[in-house]
Amino acid sequence: MTGSLFSTLTCTQCLSEFSIHETHSFCQHCNQPLVASYELTKCTTEQIIDFSISSMWRYKRVLPVLNEKNIVSLGEGNTPLLPLIKSSSFWGVRNLWLKEEAGNPTGSFKARGMSMAVSKAREWGISAFCAPTAGNAGSALAAYAAATGAEAHIYMPMATPEAFRMDCTVMGARVVEVDGSIRDAGIAMQKENADGKWWDISTLKEPFRLEGKKTLGYELAEQLGWCLPDVILYPTGGGTGLIGIWKAFREMQQMGWITEIPTRMIAIQTQGCRPVVDAFEAGADHCKLFESPAETIANGLRVPKPFGDKMIMKVLHESHGAALAVSEKDMLESMRAFAGREGIFLSPEGAALAAAVPMLKDKNLIYDSDRIVLINTGSPYKYLENLT
Ligand SMILES: *Cc1c(COP(=O)(O)O)cnc(C)c1O
Repeated sequence: MTGSLFSTLTCTQCLSEFSIHETHSFCQHCNQPLVASYELTKCTTEQIIDFSISSMWRYKRVLPVLNEKNIVSLGEGNTPLLPLIKSSSFWGVRNLWLKEEAGNPTGSFKARGMSMAVSKAREWGISAFCAPTAGNAGSALAAYAAATGAEAHIYMPMATPEAFRMDCTVMGARVVEVDGSIRDAGIAMQKENADGKWWDISTLKEPFRLEGKKTLGYELAEQLGWCLPDVILYPTGGGTGLIGIWKAFREMQQMGWITEIPTRMIAIQTQGCRPVVDAFEAGADHCKLFESPAETIANGLRVPKPFGDKMIMKVLHESHGAALAVSEKDMLESMRAFAGREGIFLSPEGAALAAAVPMLKDKNLIYDSDRIVLINTGSPYKYLENLT
């Protein structure tokens, strides 16, 4: 047994509670995500963290899998937090770090979410999955499904770089190409899955990818000696990482590991698909569908209407955060400048954060005295055809 403290699933809208011993996806009544809750009391980090495990599963007591034997792990998490000394003095901020997620299985932080969701689905007896993807989620799902001998049906926009498609097919997944964005891919998928024969593992349509992404928050805090940063910049598509990091901080507060949460969560998007930025600027609690999203080099950010939009907006407001969009040109230029300065080749999504730092300073949304973390969510190498 994992010693998991997982206790209930709760609807984020109506707060109805659901048993953890039956399969639940999202709240059918509210059409909103369910989140996992735990029986948390004041305790020490030693009582929760299994320091003998170096993957994200070291936090298994605050994760939903009950039985050890259901864990499907390929070594996800435990990624470096790199101090960016040159960039902090270049941009004139006190401390800057890069959480470098490129080393995860299949090259992105999507591995955290998929390892968790596939493991928990296995515990629930599920062995066929489907998901729409902008690339990395498909690669990760294909890998974890293969590792547990399950089926994966992956729907991706035609404009997805070839390497993602290759990842999926080499690992035995079925790939369907769809004209349009990830939203159109999701609609095509739902048509073929109208009878629910496959477990829909779309962002926040099941509760557990979020729990995997949550480990990013625990890991960051642990790496910073439980002294949280002032600012986290997050490249936002469906928003699971942003919501997950914040959820981790709240749980750590409940356990008494931290008192205040000083962190302002900042969502970065592209000019061509900016539903979260528009909602933030309008002071709205949800996003409008972003019509005709432009193609972008940062495929992971082309999400015209995140299913968890209300949760994203809540985190931005609660954390006194912000949202900002960057242009394609800014992303490309920042990617080159950052690589030349730091020796780190960012994913396009990560480069969006580097582009945002000086803009946020100009707008007085980050200060010279801030301790800032940039999340480089993936490896750039699958995107090469976008960059030439
Ligand atoms: C999926 C993805 C994102 C967006 O993540 P969300 O949690 O959906 O907001 C950002 N960067 C990369 C590389 C991704 O694959």
